[in-house]
Amino acid sequence: MSAPQERVGLIGIGSMGWPMAARLVQAGFSVTVFDAVPGQAAKFAQEVGGQAAVTCAELAAQSDIIFTMLPTSAIVEQVLNGEQGVLAGLRPDSVVVDMSSGVPAHTQRLAQAVAAAGGVMVDAPVSGGVPRARTGELAIMYGGPAATLERVRPALSSMGTSITAVGEVGSAHAMKALNNLVSAGGFLIGVEAMLIGQQFGLDPNVIVDVLNASTGMNNSTQKKFKQFVLSRQFNSGFGLDLMVKDLGIALGIATDTGTPTPFASLCRELWASAGKTLGKGQDHTAVARLSEQLAGVELGAKPKD
Ligand code: NAD
Repeated sequence: MSAPQERVGLIGIGSMGWPMAARLVQAGFSVTVFDAVPGQAAKFAQEVGGQAAVTCAELAAQSDIIFTMLPTSAIVEQVLNGEQGVLAGLRPDSVVVDMSSGVPAHTQRLAQAVAAAGGVMVDAPVSGGVPRARTGELAIMYGGPAATLERVRPALSSMGTSITAVGEVGSAHAMKALNNLVSAGGFLIGVEAMLIGQQFGLDPNVIVDVLNASTGMNNSTQKKFKQFVLSRQFNSGFGLDLMVKDLGIALGIATDTGTPTPFASLCRELWASAGKTLGKGQDHTAVARLSEQLAGVELGAKPKD
């Protein structure tokens, strides 16, 4: 197979961006990386490959396709429009692919700015977390023109195994927020079920096994409870603040569309409370600690005699 022709850049070499950029390098792309943390891009280039850029403008000047994997839409805007930002170095006909989890309306505004600068912006957020980013098996949602998808498909295919086009630019960010709403609800209800069961006298590990063989199974019962909660590791690699952000986006869309969502609102409220109660820098799986505090027990702890 011949080497990919398009030169790619990836901005945001964090928990997700690092393994995603590594997949692009492994697929044979010429990859330029940038991160706000000094030395992070150079570390990537040294350990994995590719080139480190000193500014986003420099990265853009060296890339045909520019991926962003950043915490929020506000930061994506800063990276695009700021001094020495992507738009300052954008080449004609370049594509900006925002793979962060973002705010649909914000992304649509940014897409207009990119179009005015001669490029195209699309959104392609992901699901699957750090483990599937490492193996290149992410689920990718795509919002934007069909022709642009065909252009970016080879690069996306090195990072994900499923690519679903869901509509115009911004629509994939809406879809991603809704996915995480479902995921966040499944996590919390599962934790409460384990707490009830443990108080009744059931072993939480057995509860997880039975859920996984039954209709109560979900991604959290399969991939999070034993691994990160019952193990007390709380280190999935997806921050609690990022999940709270996603729930805010989902509820914002509910407000914008006039959709009554009492269940989803309570879910967001609980996750946001955990963010405030547990403090900064927590993994999202640590939200279980809020439910434990409310119940006055710790999952997996032996009952007091
Ligand atoms: P992270 O905090 O680990 O990484 C973000 C990176 O962006 C960091 O390296 C940070 O230094 C860099 N950064 C921040 N501001 C910057 C700026 N102005 N210029 C350049 N770089 C900057 O976050 P993450 O977990 O990798 O998540 C990134 C995005 O992916 C978020 O939108 C998140 O919601 C989404 N996401 C995360 C996961 C996950 O499991 N971690 C899964 C799916 C989607």
